[in-house]
Amino acid sequence: MYRMACKDKQTEELCRRPSCVYPDICKNLDTSHDSLIQLYRKARDLPGIKKIMIASGVRYDLAVKSPTYIKELVRHHVGGYLKIAPEHTEDGPLSKMMKPGIGSYDRFKQLFDQAAREAKKEYYLIPYFIAAHPGTTDEDMMNLAIWLKRNNYRADQVQTFLPSPMSLSAAMYYSGVNPLRPVRRGVSEKVNSIKGLRQRRLHKAFLRYHDAENWPMLREALKKMGRADLIGPSKQHLIPSWQPAGTGLKYAENKGQAFTTKGIWAKPKPKPARP
Ligand code: SF4
Repeated sequence: MYRMACKDKQTEELCRRPSCVYPDICKNLDTSHDSLIQLYRKARDLPGIKKIMIASGVRYDLAVKSPTYIKELVRHHVGGYLKIAPEHTEDGPLSKMMKPGIGSYDRFKQLFDQAAREAKKEYYLIPYFIAAHPGTTDEDMMNLAIWLKRNNYRADQVQTFLPSPMSLSAAMYYSGVNPLRPVRRGVSEKVNSIKGLRQRRLHKAFLRYHDAENWPMLREALKKMGRADLIGPSKQHLIPSWQPAGTGLKYAENKGQAFTTKGIWAKPKPKPARP
């Protein structure tokens, strides 16, 4: 977003939108990537600089406005993998993060793959997703898992939301209301926060649907959600109905734990009755 700004100073001063890029890219925002492309070129020309690699941080919904920028990025600054953070596929959690819809990611991937083919390079996008963000339902996580499976993504490391100071998400997590909408007694938009350890684990398990350790938990949840049709032997199913030997034992062990933002404690054992 280097040197991107409102086209009109006076409009900017009067503007009350919380973001220039959400819920859509404002028509008054100058989305030209020319300054950024020039900056890359100047940086590459500096004496002593051999290569400048960009591993993450690309605002992909803006990048799709400039196929020239994507070509420049891929040709000169990607070293095999580029991390991108669509964070989710579902509108509920995406709207709480002020993130664009997954369609922007699909478009970026299309342009990225095309630029890599033209440069005769084998480059890959690594999409990052988050579990248990405020405003996420079990169904949202299930739909994300279905999307991941359909697109052949198997995440090794996944992030489960933790409230961090001074963030909008933390305000939602603690208050249970959406500060992106008017906050008034009785009319504030309610946001569900995922605070129970069991549900946090379930959301994370959906992100790692391919891990057999998670299958008992996912099977139980899918049956409760009325989506037992996702359990079965074919590729169209999310998880199988069978369990590899020696896996899935942790689920039963961890059932009694509770989550707080300061740590995880096992539930206190009931005191033995006095004789
Ligand atoms: S939201 Fe639009 S009008 Fe407001 S400052 Fe951003 S670009 Fe300008």
